[in-house]
Amino acid sequence: MNNRFAHLNLEALYGIPLLCPVTKCQSQMSPLEMLAHLLMRHSPQESMIEIGEDVPKQYEVEVDKLTPGRNHSMGVIAYGGSPKTGLSFAVTPDLQVVHHLPIILMLYVSPPVLNTEQTYIFYLVSPVASRLVSAHVTLLDGAHAHEKHGLRCLRNSLDSPLTDSEGRLYCNTDYLLYTANDIRELCLSGKQRRIFVKIVLHGEPDPLEVDA
Ligand SMILES: [Zn+2]
Repeated sequence: MNNRFAHLNLEALYGIPLLCPVTKCQSQMSPLEMLAHLLMRHSPQESMIEIGEDVPKQYEVEVDKLTPGRNHSMGVIAYGGSPKTGLSFAVTPDLQVVHHLPIILMLYVSPPVLNTEQTYIFYLVSPVASRLVSAHVTLLDGAHAHEKHGLRCLRNSLDSPLTDSEGRLYCNTDYLLYTANDIRELCLSGKQRRIFVKIVLHGEPDPLEVDA
């Protein structure tokens, strides 16, 4: 069923650079290095938006500006989990990343290859591959009228996509695949070639959790 994606080396995505999402920075590095760069070289409010549990957040995807063969940051999230009293909830220079899980919502576009459809791959990068936090990620057309679910794959087992009904993505573990045709369909139903990616996060972040 998924042989059409067999040419993709998902593991290799973690070595492909992306441009720093902070305006005028122009730094390029791999996703995990970028996360460290954002935490150490920039203040949180330059790149991050704080999101709580079960709060949908949408990012515009400018389809024509995506570069095949490259990683792109769709959004950088300081995930706070459920509301807690006594903790700051604004993304400010004082944001205590101790209480938040930093996550980059990534998009990779595969380069054109003869006789294979281009693939759009969404995934989440965080400092820990936490099993405590998961996300629902879907695509919406420009008019927010149609929502499309992708095909979820595990990092290490491309041939066995998960078929459980929950469809959750875990950081550093899962990938969500869309074909160029999926993207075209969403663009057609909107007026412009733009779509939105929606993310809803669940669970309690524990950034001090040891990566199992
Ligand atoms: Zn930067």
